[in-house]
Amino acid sequence: MKELLFLKPVFKETIWGGNRLRTDYGYDIPSDHTGECWAISAHPNGDGVIANGTYKGEHLSSLWKNHRELFGGLCGDQFPLLVKIIDAKADLSIQVHPDDAYAAEHENGSLGKTECWYILDCDPGAQIVVGHHAKNHQEVEEMIRGGRWDAFIRVIPIRKGDFFQITPGTVHAIKTGTLILETQQSSDITYRVYDYDRLQDGKPRQLHVQQSIDVIKAPFVPQNADGETTSVGDAEITKLVSCEYYSVYKLTVKGKATIPNNNPFVNVSILSGSGTIDGVPVKKGDHFIIPAGYGNITWEGELFLIASSVR
Ligand code: ZN
Repeated sequence: MKELLFLKPVFKETIWGGNRLRTDYGYDIPSDHTGECWAISAHPNGDGVIANGTYKGEHLSSLWKNHRELFGGLCGDQFPLLVKIIDAKADLSIQVHPDDAYAAEHENGSLGKTECWYILDCDPGAQIVVGHHAKNHQEVEEMIRGGRWDAFIRVIPIRKGDFFQITPGTVHAIKTGTLILETQQSSDITYRVYDYDRLQDGKPRQLHVQQSIDVIKAPFVPQNADGETTSVGDAEITKLVSCEYYSVYKLTVKGKATIPNNNPFVNVSILSGSGTIDGVPVKKGDHFIIPAGYGNITWEGELFLIASSVR
């Protein structure tokens, strides 16, 4: 089908969120503590609605259920991916996600969570938590139970354009002053290890210390991103990562480019500029799905975007 599926984002207020989803992206956000834009999602905690065309007004989950042909007839009871923009005005909790096997057993059959981050923008001197310094699993447990956070947590500097793949069992946290495009498995299972002793409505948020210790992998091994770049017409395509669950690409268009496509579907987030896709206008802040059978994609304009697919 040669029709794009534009989505209405779902917004989430959080204690660490800010207002950049309005000031940078122009979204109508619920408050100045809006941490997440669930841009492409069929997850029950934020099921996106189609904004245009044949399926206008339908939830993405219902398209997945009733029109599987739009997704190349893929298997699975849930639309597999979730794309978010995250505005971290303050630090997010130190956290970890389970893999599919642990989540299936302990979280009512939920998927585990592999995720990846593209740094859209960050303050000078911004940092992020990826990994830990414990030598083995016993030391993980000792450091967590002893509250030795400074020794445990691996904090690294970040710059705009950096990319990180976060596999299950990896301790991680987005920190203050960071805007991120996240592509992840469609899961909402997060184990909080440490929340800086913050209060929300006068109470600390729930921690999941035992589950965290169960799933944290040791020692931490940094992941290298692929980062291979090719040119097609006036576009540059960089494959950021390819794993069991997704491939993520960044695409810069300055002019015109026709890109071959035979994916079951492609998620697209326009992150700067404006232009057209096969004549349909697109601009910064738009998120859409290119369905199965769409075929080659012709981009025109000045655009920067992140795209993902399940292959
Ligand atoms: Zn996470």
